[in-house]
Amino acid sequence: MDNLLASLIVPPGKKIDLRNDYDPGHIGHFMSKEDAEDAIAAGIRLLSLQQDKLYAQDTYALLIIFQAMDAAGKDSTIKHVMSGVNPQGVQVTSFKVPSVEELNHDYLWRNYIALPRRGDIGIFNRSYYEEVLVVRVHPEYLARQHIPPELNDRNLWNRRFDEINHFEKYLTDNGIIVLKFFLYVSKEEQKRRFLQRVEEPDKNWKFSAADIHERAFFEDYMEAYEDMFNHTSTANAPWYIIPADHKWFTRLAVVSVIHRALDKLQLEYPKVTTEEKDALLKAKADMENESDGPGSTRKKEKKGGRKKA
Ligand code: AMP
Ligand code: MG
Repeated sequence: MDNLLASLIVPPGKKIDLRNDYDPGHIGHFMSKEDAEDAIAAGIRLLSLQQDKLYAQDTYALLIIFQAMDAAGKDSTIKHVMSGVNPQGVQVTSFKVPSVEELNHDYLWRNYIALPRRGDIGIFNRSYYEEVLVVRVHPEYLARQHIPPELNDRNLWNRRFDEINHFEKYLTDNGIIVLKFFLYVSKEEQKRRFLQRVEEPDKNWKFSAADIHERAFFEDYMEAYEDMFNHTSTANAPWYIIPADHKWFTRLAVVSVIHRALDKLQLEYPKVTTEEKDALLKAKADMENESDGPGSTRKKEKKGGRKKA
């Protein structure tokens, strides 16, 4: 598994070639979905145990970012991979086209307020990375951002990469672990899934004409993604390029990366001090010696005990 995970990471400081170095159809050493089912189920179970400790420890937070083209499987990956975790410790935030209010702030603002609390897992379904993806492919979005003209120059994208790197350094320096997943679906598989969404009535709601419009920019997006990986995969917050033509493999890879990242934290339930332990034992003794007050459901015994007939 370690070799597989190593092959998914975008090596910090190296330049990658998305098309030549990564394969959306990759399935590792697995033969089929059935072959991977046990490993996926085990990963989900382990994640649930780890989250319990993360929450109890209340020290680290985990931020998981998902970026992808439409129909790459972000929603279903989130649904499956998180199916075993306690909802109390997880928040999912989906970032859509920014509102008027959001456009009146700097671009990190809406992301910042959605960051996970310590002990929690925060999932970003899309993120501030859209600011160097959709906004780069469609510069008309930039025009709505009230950017001072002297700052709206050719260096803007490189500045954003730097700003994002600094932001993530700040997060990791403060105990927020950052995992970034790109679900890499091929243009052919996207078409197959789009057609399914048209043909199957229960999937119609997932499809819109805007999706076809964006598909026409597929190659532009791939260029924007590649440049983004080459500038924002850092040692503290690397990118993982997850093959996404086979959903079962996407789930397996994502759950494995999360599991390994949490494993490194060596999470433990908080240890109580001797004094705290003594207080717990005293509380236990007190409860055991409680006299029945009002509201007790225990049957009252007559003084002197009940006599046998
Ligand atoms: P969906 O995830 O399918 O609901 O679509 C959300 C849409 O919002 C996508 O088309 C994104 O590209 C778009 N979006 C998300 N963040 C931004 C952003 N910062 N600027 C412009 N569009 C965005
Ligand atoms: Mg969509």
